[in-house]
Amino acid sequence: MNDDGTLISKGAGIVECRICGFNFLPEVEEDRERHESEHLRILSGGLPYEIREFIKRVGWEILDNEDLRETPEQLETAKRAVAFAYWARAISNSIPENELQPFMAAHFAWLDAITAGDEEETNRAQETMKRWNKYGG
Ligand SMILES: [Zn+2]
Repeated sequence: MNDDGTLISKGAGIVECRICGFNFLPEVEEDRERHESEHLRILSGGLPYEIREFIKRVGWEILDNEDLRETPEQLETAKRAVAFAYWARAISNSIPENELQPFMAAHFAWLDAITAGDEEETNRAQETMKRWNKYGG
């Protein structure tokens, strides 16, 4: 086991990785392999679940509440943050790289429609986004 402060002892031999958030038994080979694959997902552009959800929550808060936007650019940054959180989930589920452009375009269209209160456009964007459901994990 490494001793660089990234593993926290949870008792009974279980450790939690501060990088990926995975709880495991380092003595068990299967656990070590699963942990290694979690880090490979991060190296491929994925983000741990709690981090994705945190980014989404903060992004949505800013999208939902004008008072939280300190500058007009923050609305766009909040949309990008939410779109990136969804992309990170898709990349963790092996979405092909050439899907980046259409995936992000559809998510921006969706977020633009939601913040504009355009229900029809929101529904249209959600229809387009269905093709990536299989990467939603
Ligand atoms: Zn880890």
